[in-house]
Amino acid sequence: MSEKAEELLERYAQVAGSEIIHQMQALAGRLRGAHIVHVNSTAYGGGVAEILHSMVPLMQALGLEVSWEVIEGPPEFFEVTKSFHHALQGHRVSLTEEHFQIYEENNRREAERLEKKLREADFVIIHDPQPAYLIKYVSQRKGYWIWRCHIDLSRPFYPVWRFLEKVVVSYQASIFSIPEFSQPLPHPQFVIPPSIDPFSEKNRELSPEEIFEVYRELGLDASQPMVVQISRFDPFKDPLGVIRAAELAQKFVSFQMVLAGGGAADDPEGDRVYQEVVQAARGKPNIYVFKLPPTAHRTVNALQRAADLVIQKSLREGFGLTVTEAMWKGKPVIGGATGGIRVQVVNHHTGFLVNTPEGAALRIRYLLFYESKRREMGHKAREFVRQNFLITRHVRDYLALMLSVCMGSPDRLELEAGEACAWPFGGLGAPLL
Ligand code: UDP
Repeated sequence: MSEKAEELLERYAQVAGSEIIHQMQALAGRLRGAHIVHVNSTAYGGGVAEILHSMVPLMQALGLEVSWEVIEGPPEFFEVTKSFHHALQGHRVSLTEEHFQIYEENNRREAERLEKKLREADFVIIHDPQPAYLIKYVSQRKGYWIWRCHIDLSRPFYPVWRFLEKVVVSYQASIFSIPEFSQPLPHPQFVIPPSIDPFSEKNRELSPEEIFEVYRELGLDASQPMVVQISRFDPFKDPLGVIRAAELAQKFVSFQMVLAGGGAADDPEGDRVYQEVVQAARGKPNIYVFKLPPTAHRTVNALQRAADLVIQKSLREGFGLTVTEAMWKGKPVIGGATGGIRVQVVNHHTGFLVNTPEGAALRIRYLLFYESKRREMGHKAREFVRQNFLITRHVRDYLALMLSVCMGSPDRLELEAGEACAWPFGGLGAPLL
């Protein structure tokens, strides 16, 4: 192992513990020589890109050959996939035959562009619906294809799910963030919640000066309490509900409400929703709306750290990375009681789950009033993330899944007990690939 890789693993061991590093190494040892390709639809913006930026180098440090491909497409393709996204999270959308053709045709073209890489890979992990149809157009596939669904599929709008299901059934396995999102499919389904990287620019420790700088940069008042929601401008993130909650709470307690976010290359809706939010906040002196560039990681980090509490009032959410990011920074989170947020926030312990702007307002008031409660919940929140939602656990689960798929998905995976292996698997003999 190179010195750099060793150093990286050592850093993670210091935060996540050495046991998980040993588990990852033991699993990676079995997969040595395998070529893994991740495919998604944007390099910046949104949770999937955020995860891949950390996951790919970490898998490489474990000695695996890993690459990441981003599919391209014209604006009309991303218009269609955004409608798919809404439909799969439960909204009725009206799509014509032509829309489905735009989607499929772009997947065909991208399959042609990426064919050699995808055909030769031992594992292809396709993230979300945008590139899901690639599988249909890559023939003579050598490896295992796994569909990784990051969105809330618990109540899909069926005409769109049926269309997607036609190809999802060809994958060897699929992954969902929580059990409620799984669907009747003819292959093994795995539950793997997403994660955050404690060392990314978004999450690394910041000096008090770096945190303070954000007040200056955005013209905020450091002497006033602050509540923050960081999100793409997307109706499912309920920015208008957040403004409503802030207005209700501000009748009783004075604080700055900050809604900050940007777009993603695969999300064409951002500007329109941003304009709506700006309009709704107009004339409300303690409600601030900021549009951030997709690279504003340190600003997001500083805002989350400067906040007294963080809100993520989503109406649908596969898994809100922003929730986990804030919890890692020791903040209680008021989250919409939906999808993955229900497993991220432990209600009444690490924050509160809410269903309405009124509920959110009540919890904002409570938390801003009780500083000791904020501190206690924030402390628990950080430990909960340490134990469950760091990138190391995520990588370990992916490696275990890949191994499991190779072995025909047994109920138990056993590796040989080795010196460096704290999780003693046994009996597989030589590397599988
Ligand atoms: N994010 C960001 N800048 C923004 C808005 C969001 O860097 O302006 C990040 C955010 O910190 C998180 C990710 O993008 O890491 C969003 O992930 P999440 O799962 O919360 O929502 P998604 O956008 O994937 O629906």
